[in-house]
Amino acid sequence: MTGYYSSPFPRRASVGVDVGGVMVGGGAPVVVQSMTNTDTADIDGTVAQVAALHRAGSELVRITVDRDESAAAVPKIRDRLARLGVDVPLVGDFHYIGHKLLADHPGCAEALAKYRINPGNVGFKDKKDKQFADIVEMAIRYDKPVRIGVNWGSLDQELLTRLMNENQDNGFPMTAQEVTREAIVQSAILSAHMAEEIGLGRDRIILSAKVSGVQDLIAVYAELAKRCDHALHLGLTEAGMGSKGIVASSASMGILLQQGIGDTIRISLTPEPGGDRTREVQVSQELLQTMGFRQFVPIVAACPGCGRTTSTVFQELAQNIQEDIRRNMPVWRTRYPGVEQLKVAVMGCIVNGPGESKHADIGISLPGTGETPSAPVFIDGQKAATLRGPNIAADFEKMVTEYIEN
Ligand code: SF4
Repeated sequence: MTGYYSSPFPRRASVGVDVGGVMVGGGAPVVVQSMTNTDTADIDGTVAQVAALHRAGSELVRITVDRDESAAAVPKIRDRLARLGVDVPLVGDFHYIGHKLLADHPGCAEALAKYRINPGNVGFKDKKDKQFADIVEMAIRYDKPVRIGVNWGSLDQELLTRLMNENQDNGFPMTAQEVTREAIVQSAILSAHMAEEIGLGRDRIILSAKVSGVQDLIAVYAELAKRCDHALHLGLTEAGMGSKGIVASSASMGILLQQGIGDTIRISLTPEPGGDRTREVQVSQELLQTMGFRQFVPIVAACPGCGRTTSTVFQELAQNIQEDIRRNMPVWRTRYPGVEQLKVAVMGCIVNGPGESKHADIGISLPGTGETPSAPVFIDGQKAATLRGPNIAADFEKMVTEYIEN
C-alpha cells in the first residue's frame, strides 16, 4: 500500500487509526474524505448525498450532528445506506452539545464510525474540560476514534490569551501571527494529551488544525507533524469557491503531502448555487493522483489547443472521455482491476499528437487546421486505426470503452 507514495521525502510516521474499517495513518494510503451539506435530520437528502459522495470516491463521509433530530436520524441513515449497499464509514461532526447528544442518543453513538470534536467550542467555557471528557469517555465506551479538530475560527481563547501574555512578558519574540499559530498547535496537542489521560488510545486519535491561509496552514501542520505522531487530517478551512478554493487547497496541501505530512484530506469547496457536492471529492482525488500518491481513475492527457485547432471537437472529446470514465468507474473498478492506471491521450494536431498518443495506453491525434481530415489512433504504442468522417469522436469513445473492457 505504501508503494503508492512517490514523494522524494519519506512519509511521516504516524499511529494508524481504524475508522470503521478504513485505515488512516500508519503508512496507509492518504484517505479521501468529504462532508455533506444537507440537514442531517433530512434522512432522504442525507442518504442521497452520502451515497453520491461515496460513489464519487469519498472513503469517509462526515455529517453534521447538531441537535436531537439529527442525532436521532443518524442510525436510520446508517441503515438506509446499508440497504442500498453503500458501505462508507460516517463521521459525526459535533460542536457545543455533542456530549449531550451522544449520551441521549446511543443509536447515534453506535452508528457513527468516528466523532469529530472541536476543543475550542466543546460546551460552555466553565464546563469545557468536563464536556470534552464526556465525549472522550463516550468514544471509549463505544470503541470509536475521535478527530480533535482545532479551527482557528473557534480557537480556545483562554489558551490564546495566555500565550499572548507570555509573549508580551518575554518582550515580543513572536509576531501575533506566530503566537496564533502556536496556540493552534498547542490546542491540538494539549487536547490529544487530555484525551489520552482519560484513557483514549493513541490509535484512536486523529488531529487536525485548520486555518484559512495557505502559509499559515503549511506552518501549523509542519510544526504539528514535528511535535506528535498522531495521524493528521489535512484541510484548508474556508478555502472558498471555484478555482480560488481549488488552487489554495492544492497549493497548501500539495506542499505538506510532498513532505510526507497528512494521512487523510478533505478539500472544502464552497459549492456554487446548484453546484455538485461531489466536486470536492474529485478535486481531492485529482490532487493525490497528479502528485503520484494514489490512482483513482484513468488519466486523460489532453493538449491545451492553440491556433492549429479551430474546431472544438477535441475539447469536447477530451471532456466526454473524462466524463464517461468517471461515470463508469464505480463498475469498472470492480470488474477490471488496475483500470485506474490507464492513460488516455486526446491531442489536437500532428505536432505533439502522435508522440503523446504513443506514450498513452490509447490515444488519438485529431486533425488540426489544414491537416488531412483523419485521426490516427494508437493503442499500446502502435498505430491501431485511422478514424475519418463526422463520427471520429464517437468512434474513439467506443474504442476507449472497448479497450478498457477487453
Ligand atoms: Fe496546438 Fe497541436 Fe500542440 Fe495541441 S498538440 S497544443 S493543437 S500544437
